[in-house]
Amino acid sequence: METNLSQLILAQALDQRLVVLARRLASLPLELIEREASFASLQAEVDEVDAERKASLARANDLENQVRTREARIAKLEKIAIESSDPSSAQVARHEAEGHRAANSDNQEEELELLERADTLAAKREILAAKVIEMEADLIAFRKNVEQDGVGLKVESEEILLQRNAFVSTVPSPITQAFEVLSAKHPGKAVVPLKGDSCGGCGSRLVPNDRLRVQAAKGLIRCPGCSRILVTMEMWAKASETV
Ligand SMILES: [Zn+2]
Repeated sequence: METNLSQLILAQALDQRLVVLARRLASLPLELIEREASFASLQAEVDEVDAERKASLARANDLENQVRTREARIAKLEKIAIESSDPSSAQVARHEAEGHRAANSDNQEEELELLERADTLAAKREILAAKVIEMEADLIAFRKNVEQDGVGLKVESEEILLQRNAFVSTVPSPITQAFEVLSAKHPGKAVVPLKGDSCGGCGSRLVPNDRLRVQAAKGLIRCPGCSRILVTMEMWAKASETV
């Protein structure tokens, strides 16, 4: 019985490694998804900057057209002011021209601000675009790594599983059946040592008679609380050493 239990301890040590490998395998795509999301958000930022820059230039162009139209109107009004024989008509024309000049001055100021903003955005876009290129290269490399790591982890898991099953295969089937049911419930923790008078898995106390049975190691003794297979601390330490 002692040999059987030792084999199970060895098998579950490999189960623990399998749990770690499975966790690593599961985390690989998560990190990739995170990186892909950051990349997409950077690309979106470039598009946003681009859109704002184009809108600024379009608005500046629109203002420039309005200024030109008013300048033509101002030239006409000045002509009227000079050539008109009616002083009041000349006065009205001058007044209207002044209003257009004020509007043009405001528009030109706004246009200048818009052009400066467009320049700033163009510089920002250039920096972001360089980052996109860099990040894309990183992402491609990372994707490849994830793929390779995934394959590596799978191969490693398969090898460990073979070793694990080899340990279990030497144990009679009634014992392995109990072990497999427990392993599914508590991966890598189906067999636990007796700690003092309590189960090393759930802490349930054992009656003296059960403790003696664990110490004798003549049969499969299970915890009354969690059903795990119990072994002595000595056997546990000895088997764990060889893992
Ligand atoms: Zn227990």
